[in-house]
Amino acid sequence: MGQFIPLSVPNLKGNELAYVTEAIQTEWVSTAGTYVNDFEKGLADYVHVPRAVACQSGTAGLHLALLTCGVKKEDEVIVPTLTFIAAVNPVKYIGADPIFMDCDDTLTIDPIKLRCFCEEECIVSQEKLINKKTGKHIKAMVVVHVFGNIADMEQIIEIAKQYHLKVIEDATEALGSYYQQGKLKGQFAGTMGDIGVYSFNGNKIITTGGGGMIVSKNTEYLDRCQYLSTQAKDDTLYFVHDEVGYNYRMTNLQAALGLAQLEQLETFIRTKQDNYFKYKKEGIELLSFREGIRSNYWFYSYWTEQRDLLMNYLNEKEIQVRPIWKLIHTLKPYQECQSFRIDKALLYYEHILNLPCSSNLTQENVATVITAIQSFS
Ligand SMILES: *Cc1c(COP(=O)(O)O)cnc(C)c1O
Repeated sequence: MGQFIPLSVPNLKGNELAYVTEAIQTEWVSTAGTYVNDFEKGLADYVHVPRAVACQSGTAGLHLALLTCGVKKEDEVIVPTLTFIAAVNPVKYIGADPIFMDCDDTLTIDPIKLRCFCEEECIVSQEKLINKKTGKHIKAMVVVHVFGNIADMEQIIEIAKQYHLKVIEDATEALGSYYQQGKLKGQFAGTMGDIGVYSFNGNKIITTGGGGMIVSKNTEYLDRCQYLSTQAKDDTLYFVHDEVGYNYRMTNLQAALGLAQLEQLETFIRTKQDNYFKYKKEGIELLSFREGIRSNYWFYSYWTEQRDLLMNYLNEKEIQVRPIWKLIHTLKPYQECQSFRIDKALLYYEHILNLPCSSNLTQENVATVITAIQSFS
């Protein structure tokens, strides 16, 4: 039996131990401490924005982002169906309703269908997009940059402007991806919409165990996120709270890990990129990332006609592979929600397997996976 090859696991061989040890030795382990500020500053610099707000998870970040964009329980929010459920659940935390959209061939939200939906199923009244079917105000959309791709932000930003939608970027899987060409050249996933969110969960490209970060060009939004993430405290001495807040702030321990990880992010991306092209060179048909972007190569998507057979075959060889997420509009909590002409997502759901992509995969690991796939027939 060979060595187990996991799908995506943390890589903690840099300054992680030193920084976490320092946080413990100085006894700054909670939400105050210099690592939180340093990590925020470091990440903001990396994606070329003035400021970032650290929080407990990507999910918490998305919840804060929706609240900050003014989404209320009587509103609706456009979301993709092909993504991890944490992109959609925060809409429900607020009590608002999601409307599900299809994907394009990059697995991200299809801008053509998005425009069709706005044109055909909605009306614009007093600068508000109103869903004809429900009469409700569609206030925002969550755009997910699936697997390190970037959604078609040129089109999406234009549509959002025309139809008065706030754009929340779920960049939890795409930290480090940026446009290399076009109108948005140089802009990073997460920084193009109204507000963007990263995740540092254990399987993401860098990890803090669990954690998230919110970015925006709008500093009022960031102030609001920070305020809500720290229990909406209006007076720090007398503990006056004018609103119901949340305990969503990142801890110094998490941030110590995060800072050490951030130092290695570009190295991780280079390794992932190398391995991606190694698979491709040996004839493994991985989906391409969008043209004109530098992807972070977070996850590799392999198209197969025999998804479950191949999955079982590889799992038996101790190679962890996984199908993509069951489409959210088909899941129990969301079956009654509105969805719009979803077909492509279904096809990708039925055919894609994610292959091992950790930044600490060895050359032998990659060769083992390639040989195993080639031996399957
Ligand atoms: C990981 C992920 C999240 C949630 O991030 P957490 O930090 O695990 O809460 C949200 N959306 C997508 C698409 C993700 O992959």
